Amino acid sequence: MTGFNSTSHPKVGNDLLKQWQTMLDLLAEYMSVPVALIMRLDHDKITVCVKNNAVSNPYQPGETQVIQESGLYCEEVVRSNAPLFVENAIADPVWQHNPDIEKDMINYLGLPLHWPNGDLFGTLCVLDSRSHCYDDKQQGLMRQMQLMVEAHLDLLEKNHKLQLLSKELQCLADTDDLTGIWNRRAFIEESNKELQRVQRSKHPICLLMMDIDDFKDINDAFGHEVGDEVLKLFAHCISANKRAYDIFGRIGGEEFAMLLPETRRAEAMELAERIRHKVTEIFFHKHHTEIRITVCIGVYELASNDTTILSALSKADERLYAAKRAGKNKVMDCIN
Ligand code: GH3
Ligand code: MG
Ligand code: MG
Repeated sequence: MTGFNSTSHPKVGNDLLKQWQTMLDLLAEYMSVPVALIMRLDHDKITVCVKNNAVSNPYQPGETQVIQESGLYCEEVVRSNAPLFVENAIADPVWQHNPDIEKDMINYLGLPLHWPNGDLFGTLCVLDSRSHCYDDKQQGLMRQMQLMVEAHLDLLEKNHKLQLLSKELQCLADTDDLTGIWNRRAFIEESNKELQRVQRSKHPICLLMMDIDDFKDINDAFGHEVGDEVLKLFAHCISANKRAYDIFGRIGGEEFAMLLPETRRAEAMELAERIRHKVTEIFFHKHHTEIRITVCIGVYELASNDTTILSALSKADERLYAAKRAGKNKVMDCIN
């Protein structure tokens, strides 16, 4: 059967369903029929999506039929992807066994509804228990309603694409190009969110400041590109060893920070030691030379007066520089 949806489409929200319901109420009144429906196609099923709000309408939203060989009027609209008019199903051998006749609906006018890419959304139809034709004005109104629903679907799709795009942009804006981890701005934002959460719960939280030792020497000896490679390997190594809820970002150059929620100073020291050791295992070869790196880490447990991450960053930084002063490849949680 033609016209089954090839791609996924956005969800139709309640606001739009309400608008369609109002439209169907007006349509049924203008067409002088008891039933106006928007049917939604979903793979091999067709469902009553919205109906006009009349007591004489025997269909219920959510009512579903498997469409293959169902004999439904709507199946023919979907199959042919074209309008269908049946004046009197009982008098027409093709339609005599139509299941809608059980609901006394012998008269049908339906149009296909499409998503902007041509996929079938479903049908717009009116049904009646009386045999009659529709004049040009009534047919014109059906066509206008079809265009209106399709315009809604177009807007829905565009809106959905904009939302996806805006998410992608946000992701790009938050990511450090080189390493793919949070950049400084996003790290600060994410950490501040976490601080606000933790301040209410009074759980311990620690911050690690990391700085690769003698990184300038790697750039000088092997070039900036090799330096970049080292930064990527470093970020990858830490990412692979952090817990899912730790917040890890590149603060700038060869400086990185990690916020450790629910973590006491002693546990943070252990984790920092583990990271320091893992970093010593990073190596790669360039121009027949083995490149290895080490890192210094400052460890700081946030106090109740560290209400933003910026004050904590400067305290962790002091501990980082205490580690540097003590020699490279060190972890330090105090400033002397
Ligand atoms: P220390 O052990 O005291 O930290 O010494 P260091 O050489 O690591 O630190 P220093 O601050 O002297 O040098 C950092 C270097 O990092 C200088 C800068 O050119 C380089 N750098 C900053 N950002 C990047 C980058 O994105 N890529 C590369 N390859 N190098 C960078
Ligand atoms: Mg530095
Ligand atoms: Mg450095």
